[in-house]
Amino acid sequence: MRLLLATRNAHKVEEFHELLPSIDFIPWPSDAPEIPESGAFFQDNALQKATYARDWWKAQGLPPVDGFLADDSGICVDALWGGPGVLSARFANHLSQDAKNRLLLSMLPEGSARSARFVCVLALAPTAGAPFTVGGAVEGTLAFEPRGTDGFGYDPIFIPEGHDQTFGELGSNIKHALSHRGRAAGDLKKRLGQNPTQ
Ligand code: IMP
Repeated sequence: MRLLLATRNAHKVEEFHELLPSIDFIPWPSDAPEIPESGAFFQDNALQKATYARDWWKAQGLPPVDGFLADDSGICVDALWGGPGVLSARFANHLSQDAKNRLLLSMLPEGSARSARFVCVLALAPTAGAPFTVGGAVEGTLAFEPRGTDGFGYDPIFIPEGHDQTFGELGSNIKHALSHRGRAAGDLKKRLGQNPTQ
């Protein structure tokens, strides 16, 4: 199966190659427009990205693929009333990721709960047919400072349930087995009729 992967996030691209190795992913071309992301929640953003990519690809008359896959994801922190959530990529965007992580931790009110979750919604727009979404989440807590260099984004401050280390320390094999994106990818495989363990 050949899917156009509607993202410029190199970390997501790498994770999808690892999570769904039997899919032949075509990258979003470097000269293609930015994919808009103006939805109010994860699901409509993911659908917006997948259908935008499909419409653009078709309008260019580019070689056919089986579908268009998009990911919208983020971290939801209970003490910040679910934020930054759908705005995770845009939160304090002028800062480095390490500075963003430290700023987010500093925003937690003193003594507040540190519970948080990563959420991922995947939208698949088949070349012919109705788009659909699958999703996944992983519960955890926020560390007191960034730890580890694996992964990307908020991984160094997120400790998944059942572990003492952050995703930044645990490495990609453990992350993929637990993560929001790993769970959503597992559901996508089931939906596509593939063996979810392959
Ligand atoms: P978007 O889906 O393009 O809106 O971006 C999602 C943002 O959420 C990313 O830029 C990261 O900051 C964060 N994020 C999503 N998934 C992960 C993850 O697996 N680890 C760490 N941060 C993530």
